[in-house]
Amino acid sequence: MMPMRFDVITLFPELVASVVSGGVTGRAMERSIIGLKSWNPRDFSTDVHRTVDDRPYGGGPGMVMKADCLLQAIRAARQENPGKVVYLSPQGMPLNQQLVRQFATEDNLILLCGRYEGIDERIIELEVDMECSIGDYVLSGGELGAMVLIDAVTRLLPGTLGHDDSAAQDSFFDGLLDCPHYTRPDELEGLSVPAVLKSGNHADIARWRKQQALGRTWQRRPDLLKARQLTVSEQALLDDYINEFDRSTKLH
Ligand code: SAM
Repeated sequence: MMPMRFDVITLFPELVASVVSGGVTGRAMERSIIGLKSWNPRDFSTDVHRTVDDRPYGGGPGMVMKADCLLQAIRAARQENPGKVVYLSPQGMPLNQQLVRQFATEDNLILLCGRYEGIDERIIELEVDMECSIGDYVLSGGELGAMVLIDAVTRLLPGTLGHDDSAAQDSFFDGLLDCPHYTRPDELEGLSVPAVLKSGNHADIARWRKQQALGRTWQRRPDLLKARQLTVSEQALLDDYINEFDRSTKLH
């Protein structure tokens, strides 16, 4: 299978390379599940100082990424990568697991990282297929967003995760948060591991995990539960969880 290729347009290629080279994404790169190439608009700048920013028309604080060298960098990337161009932007579509899943079906993506006050609006009109935000806050550059997107997408690509750390167990995979996890030792500062996890009864363990996932989602992210139809048995598990929760809070 051909690797999913990410071409990143960035003024800080070393930043993207450093994060993507370790851990799960690093392994995916070694196994040729993903490929990564960065394109620096500075390499397409023609003046002696290799300028990559310019003052905004209309005045005001801050600079804007210079349009001409940025356009050339994107077009150079496009010659090698026919994928969609995604501009990381606080004004974009919020990134969630559903969108990550959608990205994971693409063969290739070009990720455009802004800096300064952002990029010339005409670049968006000319070259950008979609804008994507990693949250309602403003970062200094799109690189962190690109790395978040690459990491989340890579986890879903076949062969990246082993059976043991399958994405199917992660939060959001089936519209719920993940259950709590425990490992050795049995006792930690007086806190013990729930007995069911040591019972060896796989059906009981699976039921407990599902109930915890439902309960946590109910407590922390009720919006996710509203968007998800529960089966009869899931509803029963959640009702038990809520009853137990009500009982224990009344006791305190
Ligand atoms: N003036 C811009 C605005 O308010 O929409 C913000 C510019 S920001 C300082 C510089 C760059 O960081 C943006 O061009 C974008 O690429 C990136 N960025 C900032 N916040 C982001 C977010 N929440 N998600 C994705 N990218 C973001």
